[in-house]
Amino acid sequence: MAIPFIDLKKQYKEHDADIDAAVLRVLEHGQYIMGPEVKELESQLAQYIGVKHAISCSSGTDALILPLMAKSLTTSDAVFTSPFTFFASAESISLAGATPVFVDIDPKTYNLDPVDLEKKINQVKEEGKLRPKGIVPVDLFGIAADYQKIQMIATKFDLFVLEDAAQSFGAKYHDDKACGLGDIGATSFYPAKPLGCYGDGGAIFTNDTNLYETMTSLRVHGQAVTGDKYDNVRIGTNARMDTIQAAILLEKLKFYDQEIEKRNLVASLYNKNLSEAVKLPTVPQNQGSVWAQYSIQVADRDKLKQDLTKKGIPTAIFYPIPIHLSTAYSHLGHKVGDFPVTELVSNHIISLPMHPYLDESTIGLICDAVNASVSHHT
Ligand SMILES: *Cc1c(COP(=O)(O)O)cnc(C)c1O
Repeated sequence: MAIPFIDLKKQYKEHDADIDAAVLRVLEHGQYIMGPEVKELESQLAQYIGVKHAISCSSGTDALILPLMAKSLTTSDAVFTSPFTFFASAESISLAGATPVFVDIDPKTYNLDPVDLEKKINQVKEEGKLRPKGIVPVDLFGIAADYQKIQMIATKFDLFVLEDAAQSFGAKYHDDKACGLGDIGATSFYPAKPLGCYGDGGAIFTNDTNLYETMTSLRVHGQAVTGDKYDNVRIGTNARMDTIQAAILLEKLKFYDQEIEKRNLVASLYNKNLSEAVKLPTVPQNQGSVWAQYSIQVADRDKLKQDLTKKGIPTAIFYPIPIHLSTAYSHLGHKVGDFPVTELVSNHIISLPMHPYLDESTIGLICDAVNASVSHHT
């Protein structure tokens, strides 16, 4: 039997009675758009993260776009982000009309390097073409970025912080949780994310009530939040979450904490059994990971991938092309060597199967296969 990279079917089978019943309730009450489950989910999400407001929306990408739209940005506004992330982190900045400026990553956490961040902000100010406006740190693979340092820099330069928490929903950061670590947090409920629905979905988090109202309006074509809803007060979009997806998430949120524990168990078994020739993931002190991915670095990544594929073990590479080298951003004029840490990691990183239902014997099998591959010199 093939080993799945993420086993969503097994998760469904363990909870199918509750999930089926939740979906059927929606089919029967008939409020398929903005039904009661949507409001209930938003209230539970806000409580879970510990922020005042949560807005559900149609995807993680929209969860990034709506707050950026609320900031009324222009092409002369610089928004700083990582080049080592899913494309949407940068794409949303461009879609909101601003210019992404890339910052290299920390070699241990793979998240935005605060030292390079301050350097890039100063460079932009010196050049004088763009105005620094905001930062979109990404919590890669399930680990929050260094928000203590990032927040200090944001305050110093008067920048907003939009946390891309698409891979880190609820990850522990000191006494707080990912999604609530910036001025605004954005997450994704894409099926393969730590908390996934059965289609596209996302959510936005903030303590700022004005921003909350603007984003709520933007989510439904810029309609007035109070007063006549047929009066469109700004240009918005359609970014609502389906009621069915909200109903599914309400069920899945109930066992999310248990699943995070199981993911941590899987990660600790990997950590214990993988050979010293492998660079393991690093979780900083006073932080926790929700293990969106379990990613390692090896000298010969392509050989490892081939060896594992031959044994029926799936792997994935996040991300083989850093965003500054993507075709879509060639107009920014970057070249190989501009972000050395990102480029090095991008050439050596590989992700192993990771999900809460991975059993000990399968983990053992995967570790044996990795260790055999990295110890063979050809
Ligand atoms: C998945 C992801 C997104 C986009 O989420 P979608 O729900 O797929 O639109 C954005 N940023 C990061 C870092 C992601 O991993």
